[in-house]
Amino acid sequence: MSELILTSKDANVGIITVDNPPVNALSPGVPDGIAAALAAHIADPEVSAIVLIGGGRTFIAGADIKEFGKVVAGQSKGHNLLPLMLAMEDSPKPVIVAIHGTALGGGLEVAMGGHYRVASATAQVGQPEVKIGLIPGAAGTQRLPRLAGVELAAQMCAFGEPIRAQQALEAGILDAIIDGDLLTGAVSFARAQTERPKPRERAIRPFDPAIFDTLRAQAKKTHRNQTAPQAAINAVEAATQLPFPEGCTRERELFNECLYGPQSKALIHAFFGEREVAKIPGIGKDTPTRAIKQAAVIGAGTMGGGITMNFVNAGIPVRLRETTQEALDKGMATIKKNYANSVAKGRFSQAVMDQRMALITPQLTYDGFEEADIITEAVFEGMALKKEIFAAIDGIAKPGAILASNTSTLSIDEIASATTRPQDVIGTHYFSPANVMRLLEIVRGAATGLDVIATCMNLAKTLKKVGVLVGNCRGFVGNRMIHCYLREAQFLVEEGAAPEQVDGALYEWGMAMGPLSMGDLAGLDVGWRIRKEFKHLEVPGERVPLISDELCERGRYGQKTGAGYYKYDENRKQTPDPEVTAIIEELAAREGIERREISKEEILDRTLLSLANEGAKILEEGIALRSVDIDVIYLTGYGFPAYRGGPMFYADTLGLANVLAKVQAFGWEPAPLLVKLAAEGKTFSA
Ligand code: NAD
Repeated sequence: MSELILTSKDANVGIITVDNPPVNALSPGVPDGIAAALAAHIADPEVSAIVLIGGGRTFIAGADIKEFGKVVAGQSKGHNLLPLMLAMEDSPKPVIVAIHGTALGGGLEVAMGGHYRVASATAQVGQPEVKIGLIPGAAGTQRLPRLAGVELAAQMCAFGEPIRAQQALEAGILDAIIDGDLLTGAVSFARAQTERPKPRERAIRPFDPAIFDTLRAQAKKTHRNQTAPQAAINAVEAATQLPFPEGCTRERELFNECLYGPQSKALIHAFFGEREVAKIPGIGKDTPTRAIKQAAVIGAGTMGGGITMNFVNAGIPVRLRETTQEALDKGMATIKKNYANSVAKGRFSQAVMDQRMALITPQLTYDGFEEADIITEAVFEGMALKKEIFAAIDGIAKPGAILASNTSTLSIDEIASATTRPQDVIGTHYFSPANVMRLLEIVRGAATGLDVIATCMNLAKTLKKVGVLVGNCRGFVGNRMIHCYLREAQFLVEEGAAPEQVDGALYEWGMAMGPLSMGDLAGLDVGWRIRKEFKHLEVPGERVPLISDELCERGRYGQKTGAGYYKYDENRKQTPDPEVTAIIEELAAREGIERREISKEEILDRTLLSLANEGAKILEEGIALRSVDIDVIYLTGYGFPAYRGGPMFYADTLGLANVLAKVQAFGWEPAPLLVKLAAEGKTFSA
């Protein structure tokens, strides 16, 4: 019998325990092991009912996602769960599945093979396959509508959100909720089932057939361009139109289309990517870390306020310093307003909000900064000011405190040079809005201590962020690349594409927002000021984009001034502005830029491939550890669609030889790594 499955007995009840920590995934050996244990209990004359349960903290939390990649690569045939489920269903002795933690994906599918399901009150069940671009592939789309009703099943399969035990009980997925010890309760429940199991139950309850079109339309909006949610809805619809075995065959076809399609590969890459970025050479479990119990933040502006919220959300008290009472009041008012919005939306209670607000000490001094374990600076982007502040906190902070800067472009080493402790200085680069965006770029200076890096990587987790370690260069990874992307977007506009054409192409392709709308949202003046600061770094003769600065010169800073690339009304609703067309045409004429028709393909290639080409340079310089780190930065910080896998993965899917040919055709300097990999027929990700 499989080592992953334990069998035991409690008098006349046979027990099967899945023992595949940490989450009892359906790895090779698990389904076969359950089947063998089931057969043994069926053959045992002393056993009259059978309980299937998970060991450790959960029932089967899902498939072994690594297996999908192997199947696609032809290295594994995968395992078919259907025979196991039919064996459970056909068991002459009642099979009771006992669920705690989560029964997700293949876990719920296995559970639905049993005759009864009981669960702890805190358990959750779901079919989250769409989150990795798949649909249930072991009859989940066929059994769930029969158990839970068509509407709920279609919703669960299409959107992948799990439901709680109580809802599952009411829907008919569960037969009982067990208070107290789950196994004890499940065994008593099993003992009470004295009747022979019912024959296969295949009836479908009445439902509203309009549900499918409603959900399709909804999924089109919430899961723009994604194929899996549509396939999941089709599979559930098939359950209502075909007999069970044919429905299972249809589900399999749809499953395979998803499995062999590009989106699941990209989403699986993204899924593992988030785990991969936590692995840092030289840092392991034995690397010492520092405790973060108290924090201080300098600057209560856009970023400082959001950063403060991150800390207090995690229960870490913050001293928040500003220069003027007015700025401090404004910063605190914004924090309060954000929390009040969450309370109004029912995300948490007023009491929670009050607790969080009470953890913030707004102040105009450095009082108490000597107690902080981490001090995060989020003042205006200017080297002189940052150095002045770091010199000041060097004189105040306790030994061992981490001194972090939220700079988006400036050198961490130069900032650290203002202190006597460069080993304690690090960049923690949050993304706007800092209380929402998941990305945290952790910028390592030349002298930053390993323990400081390890502590900040842990801090990212504490703050529910995805920490990605990057090296120190202008703009680090994300902004250095976005600079190229925004530059191309501006060139395209100068050469003849309308702003809405550039934004429209990229939005339709899958970006959360077009680049020019993004500029309007963030404020075009931010880049304008940075470009002024770095004017001396411009390479003579190299083309620089002019249109954003031109708009700023005319007071069009974006949404905040009601005008940028577009016009905005008082609700910040965007409309194209003929005045912008005139400004662009005037600029092109003045600068001698020839205007022409620009295709959608050119817009996509020039913007997206500029990301990959710069990313390749970043990789080669060691600024990013792996190509997947760059992908994760773009997926979590820049609204890049996960079903495209990130800019580097996307380039891989196009084929690097094709990417190189385009880069050369655009007259860009190709990254040497791109040239090398293209010549070798390799990819960034492999
Ligand atoms: P902001 O202008 O909104 O806020 C800066 C705040 O710092 C102001 O309230 C100002 O009064 C305060 N300040 C200035 N000097 C100070 C001092 N000596 N002590 C205390 N407070 C002081 O700017 P922001 O957008 O929050 O940017 C802050 C930093 O974060 C910059 O380095 C910026 O590059 C970086 N950043 C910004 C974004 C973004 O999207 N806005 C994203 C990532 C990083």
